[in-house]
Amino acid sequence: MGLTGLDIFKLTPKKNCKDCGFPTCLAFSMKVASGAAEIEKCPHISSDALSKLAEATAPPMKTITIGRGETEYKLGGETVLYRHEKTFVNRNRFAVLLCDSMDDGEIESKLHSIKRVNYIRIGEEMRVEIIAFKYGGNRKRYVNLINKVKESGLKLTYMLICEDVDLLSEVLKIVKDDNPIVHGTTKENYRDMVNLVKSNKYVLGLKAPSLSELYDLVGEIQKLDYKELILDVGSNSIKEAFQNTVQIRRTALKEGDRTFGYPSIIFVNQLARNDKFMEIAISSLFIMKYGSIIVLEDIDYARALPLFALRQNIFTDPQRPMRVEPDIYSINNADDNSPVLCTVDFALTYFIVSGEIERSKVPVYLAIPDAGGLSVLTAWAAGKFSGLSIAKFIKEMGVEERTNCRKLVIPGKVAVLKGDIEDSLPGWEVIVGTDEAMHLPRFLRELDKEINGAGSIA
Ligand code: SF4
Repeated sequence: MGLTGLDIFKLTPKKNCKDCGFPTCLAFSMKVASGAAEIEKCPHISSDALSKLAEATAPPMKTITIGRGETEYKLGGETVLYRHEKTFVNRNRFAVLLCDSMDDGEIESKLHSIKRVNYIRIGEEMRVEIIAFKYGGNRKRYVNLINKVKESGLKLTYMLICEDVDLLSEVLKIVKDDNPIVHGTTKENYRDMVNLVKSNKYVLGLKAPSLSELYDLVGEIQKLDYKELILDVGSNSIKEAFQNTVQIRRTALKEGDRTFGYPSIIFVNQLARNDKFMEIAISSLFIMKYGSIIVLEDIDYARALPLFALRQNIFTDPQRPMRVEPDIYSINNADDNSPVLCTVDFALTYFIVSGEIERSKVPVYLAIPDAGGLSVLTAWAAGKFSGLSIAKFIKEMGVEERTNCRKLVIPGKVAVLKGDIEDSLPGWEVIVGTDEAMHLPRFLRELDKEINGAGSIA
């Protein structure tokens, strides 16, 4: 860190060949120094210079990889403390904890919950990503538990929480191809733990009685040249866990001290002490400040809906609106006699409008053109939701092949577009809809009666 554009320029080949996409080596170097370009974009740079620069320009917080294939996730790699400075890059992940001391009924119930809570929100799958296996003293049950989950076929990354290196070497055979997290490294066992995971580069979870001892432990492990680490911030109290998490992140990012440049793990289940709503409140805190893995007691919709939505909002680019994919969405089993309703691709608008259409039970095609992810009036004012763009979208998406109905409902707030759309879409009747989405169900039921006669909706 801290290299200037000129420092980087000295290491470039100075050919000014433009292969990196910049007009000169100096312009490229300046972009690398500001973090807007990666040094690897120059194909002519020597491997020696590359390794020097990669080390010097790497973010102060390491990016680690856990899991494999469909369940592979990256954690850490953050460069800023506040989301308004720059986008946070690697979202936190949620874990549910199982222990060999739990009875079969409790384990079954948690596995069932993990399977059940799985839904899509703004194009993203919302579900628990990690299963944490805590060793509670019964070796046989611990091994059986891991085998059971492995055989269940659930898409999960594994976290083994155990300080017994012999037992870990046994259970790692079960999940050796799944790139698990191995948590339970202390100042007593760290050498054996590093030896256990080094060849496979599994992520090691570190814990210590205090922050200064955690710092020393990281230092000792770094001396062994092992840097695939995640830090347990402690779970004695909410206050201590929060202070530690913030201190770790500040030390790495503000002071550039890479000893604390690792993601963190928070056992919210322990902090909440069996209070589900406290668990939701504390998890919300650590989604924002700076939990990388948040361990929960269980998962249900009461936990998932607020927590996954908050995470999705925090880990998006604040300069880009959340939007849904432009498309023609069939709602309530729209068929070849269904009208078309059009609105913008701003995610919030889409969810409100589609929810009200579902409530009406009227089969409708919802046309969502590219409106820049803006709300209806803003998109209209910016020229991104115009009569021409709507008509073009209806034609290009082949709506006329999907329905014989030639009625297109537009938002009441842009009634002014009616004439333009009708001019560009001959044969279509453009109907000005409601100003507010909440009035759509009644409006659509009336429209359905007009198209299909009374009593057409089940
Ligand atoms: S590709 Fe490399 S050598 Fe060519 S202009 Fe860019 S930095 Fe210079």
